[in-house]
Amino acid sequence: MERDLFEEEHELFRETVREFLAREVVPHHGRWEKDGIVPREVWKKAGEVGMFGFGVPEEFGGSGIKDFRYNAVIVEEIIRVGASGLGFSLHNDVMAPYFVDLTNDGQKARWLPGFASGELITAVAMTEPGAGSDLQGVRTTAVRDGDHYVVNGSKTFITNGINSDLVVVVAKTDPSAGARGISLLVVERGMEGFTRGRNLEKIGMHAQDTAELFFENVRVPAANLLGDQEGQGFFQLMANLPQERLSIAVAAVAAAETVLAATIDYCRNRQAFGRSIGGFQNTRFVLAELDTEVEIARHYVDKCIRALNAGTFTVVDAAKAKWWATELQTRVIDRCLQLHGGYGYMMEYPVARAWLDSRVQTIYGGTTEIMKEIIGRSFGF
Ligand SMILES: Cc1cc2nc3c(=O)[nH]c(=O)nc-3n(C[C@H](O)[C@H](O)[C@H](O)COP(=O)(O)OP(=O)(O)OC[C@H]3O[C@@H](n4cnc5c(N)ncnc54)[C@H](O)[C@@H]3O)c2cc1C
Repeated sequence: MERDLFEEEHELFRETVREFLAREVVPHHGRWEKDGIVPREVWKKAGEVGMFGFGVPEEFGGSGIKDFRYNAVIVEEIIRVGASGLGFSLHNDVMAPYFVDLTNDGQKARWLPGFASGELITAVAMTEPGAGSDLQGVRTTAVRDGDHYVVNGSKTFITNGINSDLVVVVAKTDPSAGARGISLLVVERGMEGFTRGRNLEKIGMHAQDTAELFFENVRVPAANLLGDQEGQGFFQLMANLPQERLSIAVAAVAAAETVLAATIDYCRNRQAFGRSIGGFQNTRFVLAELDTEVEIARHYVDKCIRALNAGTFTVVDAAKAKWWATELQTRVIDRCLQLHGGYGYMMEYPVARAWLDSRVQTIYGGTTEIMKEIIGRSFGF
């Protein structure tokens, strides 16, 4: 069925993104995978072609356009070339709402121009060694001391952890107040007591810097609190997580489509028993099942994008999109790898990388199990 989500302006923008990726990313990504990180200059170059700052008001260097279809274009094109090291979707899809919607005028002036130009790279630090799914279990504290908060604690698995300049840190400002005792503070590169730990060695996404962060008596100005009062952090996170989950679902469907298309091609050309492997009924049935499922997922996710733009997208819609699309992605890629035979196990084949890169999709942004909890709770049992 025809995909009718995008208008001409989105497709024009897609060309820009494609051209940028072909020129500035694809030729270098293999080296970045060895380095474990993407150089910061790439962020600046992406900023120059307008890949950041959708939703950032024009006066602060953004496009002023809030339309998640542009975000989706960027995600899809990055996925199609397998550039899993670029932390752009975290910056654009996850962090933009924090920096655009939760900031006051002074904060906007300080942070948004760099956000839109790619000179300030962002991250969000929720997860700790002892608390992931259970966000209320975070132990990092922020204690008010005059015009500052004194932050202590540690975080782990932080995307853009090494490259980030602005880290939204989830901390307890009132440990006795449960969900109402959590606040979001922007910790900036160079603040005394803020250090980065290891760039973590992962099974996939080798060019993505995922790191531990440590905070030891970091004096963060009270002016870096997001929102107009303390204790709003948990609710701010809950409000923004649906968009993060939709971004992950968009990536999931794009990855499944990309691998499926490559696999259909492979099955056309690979010979066994004197015929192409696509000639076996089993191959055709597997591909038929996957093609059907991916197309159905595509239409649900596109509908979610429209709902997000319209302001009607719910936490439950997002949970459905996230768990379904990512579980489908891992299943599709695994079955496509099988159809590649031994070549599927070789890193030079995109399906092998996709298999490794995709595994995390059902885990970060909220696990499949937590997504089902969210949906299950909506029945009100
Ligand atoms: C590559 C990567 C990048 C990441 N980037 C970021 C980032 O930028 N910022 C950030 O803050 N975090 C990030 N994370 C962390 C990620 O969000 C967490 O790993 C995830 O939320 C799961 O938390 P956990 O690892 O502590 O697992 P746990 O919460 O310990 O869960 C372990 C298992 O128990 C299950 N489980 C837990 N609670 C329940 C329940 N109530 N019911 C049923 N099952 C349950 C889980 O589903 C899972 O299967 C990243 C992780 C990875 C791997």
